[in-house]
Amino acid sequence: RWARQDGFGPALFDPVRADEERRRHHLAAEMPAALTRGEFTLYYQPLLRLADRAVIGVEALARWSRPGDGLVMPLHFIPVAERTGLIRPLGRHLLELACRRGAAEPGLLISVNLSPVQLRDPGLVASVADILHRTGLPAARLQLEITETAETLHHRPALAGLAALGIRLALDDFGTGYSSLAVLATLPFTEAKLAGEFLRDTRRRDVLGHIIDTCHALGMTVTAEGIETPEQERLLRELGCDHGQGYHLGRPRAGLPHSVPLAASDRTDSR
Ligand code: C2E
Ligand code: MG
Ligand code: MG
Ligand code: MG
Repeated sequence: RWARQDGFGPALFDPVRADEERRRHHLAAEMPAALTRGEFTLYYQPLLRLADRAVIGVEALARWSRPGDGLVMPLHFIPVAERTGLIRPLGRHLLELACRRGAAEPGLLISVNLSPVQLRDPGLVASVADILHRTGLPAARLQLEITETAETLHHRPALAGLAALGIRLALDDFGTGYSSLAVLATLPFTEAKLAGEFLRDTRRRDVLGHIIDTCHALGMTVTAEGIETPEQERLLRELGCDHGQGYHLGRPRAGLPHSVPLAASDRTDSR
């Protein structure tokens, strides 16, 4: 057999895969200059408190405004940046953008995604502290979202260092990985973000209430991601889920939402 056993490169020539590989190399080569030119920006998606629909914060989502190619989505370039190592300077740039934007918006929680590769960087905690200091965003208004992977759980010192800064830590895409609740309970996460799959997969939907209760018992707040319908919003509110995010509640946009948390009397219940 000619198939390679090392897991690298195509086993046999596969034109689709070769094309994909070429595109990735192309993007990888272009990214450092694109970063210098300021082509990486953020969109912001509102995070709502389900009890009264007040906007309590935003999740910052990376976009690459690539001349001649429109807006490139993060799933196309974040994995590339993780492989080349550019994720470190890119991540710092995006974090700084988000904090600077958030500093001008009193009361708003700014939630930024952090790659597991950044978590491995021994300079991470110092660089987050430096960005908070330079932008003037209070630590309590910054949340870092870390996807639930097997690796995440091995970075206890980094997680503890970040928590010690006074920022919040969210476990992103919770329910797609393999962490046991027993392990989670020993890590300094303040919030669990339930993956949208919980809403779409009926078998998981059955355990939704239990998951929310367990997260609460572990001292975490819960955000449901991927809320696309009024029925999903109602169900989650009934189950006591704290916060929600999804196309039904607000799409990612270039600007911050009009974000001053609504007073109960100003609330619009129509939607
Ligand atoms: P994520 O952190 O889980 O972010 C949520 C993703 O779900 C976003 O996709 C958002 O646009 C999308 N989404 C929001 N509401 C809905 C909904 O109702 N239905 C569905 N189907 N999707 C919804 P996006 O912006 O394409 O980002 C994809 C992923 O890329 C993110 O998933 C995150 O893991 C990663 N990412 C995005 N920005 C950054 C970044 O600045 N740094 C790092 N390291 N990763 C990032
Ligand atoms: Mg996220
Ligand atoms: Mg994520
Ligand atoms: Mg997520």
